[in-house]
Amino acid sequence: MPYEAVIGLEIHAQLLTTTKIFCGCETAFGAPPNTHVCPVCLGFPGALPMLNQRAVEYAIRAALALGCTVHPTSVFARTNYFYPDLPKGYQISQYDRPLATGGQLTWQDGEREVHVGITRIHMEEDAGKSLHEGFGDSSMSSYIDLNRAGVPLIEIVSEPDLRSAADAGQFFARLRAILVALGINDGNMEEGSLRCDANVSVRPWGTTTFGTKTEIKNVNSFRYLEKAIDYEIHRHCDLVMRGERIVQETRLFDSASGHTFSMRSKEDAHDYRYFPEPDLPPLTITAAWVADVARTLPELPDARRARFISEYALPPYDAAWLTQSMAMASYFEAVARATKNPKASSNWVMGELARLMKERGHEIEQVPVSADALAGLIGLIDAGRISGSIAKGVLEKMYADGRSAEVIVDQDGLARIDDEGAVLVAVQGVLAVNADAAADYRAGKTKSFGFLVGQVMKASGGKANPALVNAVLKRELGG
Ligand code: ADP
Ligand code: MG
Ligand code: ZN
Repeated sequence: MPYEAVIGLEIHAQLLTTTKIFCGCETAFGAPPNTHVCPVCLGFPGALPMLNQRAVEYAIRAALALGCTVHPTSVFARTNYFYPDLPKGYQISQYDRPLATGGQLTWQDGEREVHVGITRIHMEEDAGKSLHEGFGDSSMSSYIDLNRAGVPLIEIVSEPDLRSAADAGQFFARLRAILVALGINDGNMEEGSLRCDANVSVRPWGTTTFGTKTEIKNVNSFRYLEKAIDYEIHRHCDLVMRGERIVQETRLFDSASGHTFSMRSKEDAHDYRYFPEPDLPPLTITAAWVADVARTLPELPDARRARFISEYALPPYDAAWLTQSMAMASYFEAVARATKNPKASSNWVMGELARLMKERGHEIEQVPVSADALAGLIGLIDAGRISGSIAKGVLEKMYADGRSAEVIVDQDGLARIDDEGAVLVAVQGVLAVNADAAADYRAGKTKSFGFLVGQVMKASGGKANPALVNAVLKRELGG
């Protein structure tokens, strides 16, 4: 590619409070339209907003987790614009004095450290939703649902530090995992509780000034985010190479065609006629409050990954894989604690369990095999009651019918055969039909020993104790 891409993301995350940011209405998703509304969130004249303290606490959590400075004083401001689903005619947001600034999110990608600055985190209210029906025919109607109006949001703005669609996807995924781990956002992109705008520009390699950017609005899946950014990078490159000018504008991504198209020219800040919200005092946050919130922060994905390496001696790859989601990490950790065999636990979770999940399209939350049940299976292997290959089949049965490993091994007769008499019978049987291999071995061709072991294992359905097979076979072959 002739040009370097420059990308910055703006992420809107709904905070998981039970009530809205400036009134007591419920935030629950999916209620009948316009049932979670009151004079405040409907924007009736004279209704006064009152700030939800829990929303501020959640915003502080995000700020701390992303290494931002939380400011002792921040100021709410009105962003004025007309939208049918914005009944007040303005959105209460924060402008020149946001809640928090100056954080970062960094991660390791192989040898490369990716560092993305967080410019700011501010609080604001969500708008309502418009629904359109019967586009293009005479029955076309539009509906407005104001249940979402006033749901608390934080907007997280990144520095233009990202250089590829893949890194942007990584950044967004990691940010999502952090917000979910903090318990302040549900991570649900389909329902719109987490939304991402991507700003994209290109410049010749080796230059430092930025090109003109375009903004892609509200992409609602990880896959689409990367596709939309890639499309936009290529569109910019094509234009620049043809000597054309990039128009600063807001664009939408159409997932069907994989293209972005122009939605509107980009407003400048002055178009919004920002001014301080007269109905809300400046937000003051004491150092003591910040310290209190800091004490309640859970272990974040990066810290957990590091701990998996130090506490369980897992390879970095395993630790990174397992900490992709909190639920997965917790599942692994429960297995590892029960088995006291972390490496076997990670192998089984990342290997056979992940394979079965993929086959069935399951997330870890839907897996019918509990962590204890998987630990039970690993315990049988560690105790020498079944072999690893038998265990794979056992796990499949556990997944399918919910029986425990112990019960399956008993009921289906899968326990390892440790009875010397039974092994001897199998060995003699194999030697009887493989006289050539036996003769080869006795003549010094040690390779045929492995073949004979394999035959005995096969004859026992994989159940014979391999060490015992080795010993008995050696003895029968005459040392
Ligand atoms: P605006 O005022 O147009 O919203 P901002 O300066 O607030 O622009 O930046 C919005 C987002 O765009 C941020 O995430 C920022 O990192 C990103 N951004 C700014 N300039 C560029 C650029 N030239 N190319 C790509 N992204 C950019
Ligand atoms: Mg902006
Ligand atoms: Zn309300």
